[in-house]
Amino acid sequence: MRELERRKADKPLSVLRTAAELRFALAQARGRGLSVGLVPTMGSFHEGHLSLMRRARAQCDVVVVSLFVNPAQFAGGEDLGSYPREEQRDTELAQAEGVDFLFVPEAQDVYPDGFSTTVEVRGLTGVLCGSPTSRGAAHFHGVTTIVAKLFNIVAPDVAYFGHKDFQQALVIKRMVRDLDMPVQIETCPTVREPDGLAMSSRNAYLSADDRARATALKDALDAAAAALREGASAENARDAAGAQLTRHAIGPEYLEILDASDLTPLEDAGNERVVVAVAATIGRARLIDNVVVDLQTQAGTDAPASAPTAMVGA
Ligand code: AMP
Repeated sequence: MRELERRKADKPLSVLRTAAELRFALAQARGRGLSVGLVPTMGSFHEGHLSLMRRARAQCDVVVVSLFVNPAQFAGGEDLGSYPREEQRDTELAQAEGVDFLFVPEAQDVYPDGFSTTVEVRGLTGVLCGSPTSRGAAHFHGVTTIVAKLFNIVAPDVAYFGHKDFQQALVIKRMVRDLDMPVQIETCPTVREPDGLAMSSRNAYLSADDRARATALKDALDAAAAALREGASAENARDAAGAQLTRHAIGPEYLEILDASDLTPLEDAGNERVVVAVAATIGRARLIDNVVVDLQTQAGTDAPASAPTAMVGA
């Protein structure tokens, strides 16, 4: 048996429900000089989540996965109540990946009575999913507040996020930089179904018909990326993407091409990496996806510049 497999089989996963228990367990590991990796999630694990756990397992001595459907990042009318919750299945999957600690706190413990602090990153959170016509900036304030809390509880050396939530990863990196948080942020490539649909816990909401239509999101991103690589303007590239959505009767919540470093509108020249980002509600599922195109090398990627790249459309 390989070293990692032996380790997985040998070590039972601990499910911990309070910050105090987790801190105590991690203090012991730290005392032995072990590095700690954190994968924050809302559960209902799929291969995207598992890829983050695998990366953490490969790079860190101790792997912590948090499972918390965070009410603070859902607006009224969103799917907080119906979000899939499958703790038993998730526990088994995390165990199989060699995760050491699954942290499953109660909302009342995370947000006790009188909770009155919010961590806000401005600017980056006002566009795409943060725009008032989308989920709104409060969504990201909910994300940064819970992630800051998790960083304080776990004090990870490295925290792992998915490129699928491109804006979220950018916002978290900005928070970490601005607040001097001593954690390294790793962004991992988007994991996709064989037909290109980005894996998401919300894909479970799709009917068979809507599941077939949902592939249009990736088709749209590919069309825009191809147009950009051929030298098209952002406007023309956006039109090419829009045509793919229209073909499947999908009206996007947004479909934008922005500078990938700071989500600002494109200049006429000089943009090196651009992100094509889309959000759309298909049936009951609000889905997002993105691809980054490097205009210098003409490459399209599903991964950040610093990570091993997975080519889009390859
Ligand atoms: P969630 O449980 O949806 O909040 O996601 C937890 C983490 O998994 C986030 O960092 C997501 O970006 C990441 N993630 C979700 N879907 C994927 C995917 N298809 N590929 C890679 N990472 C993903």
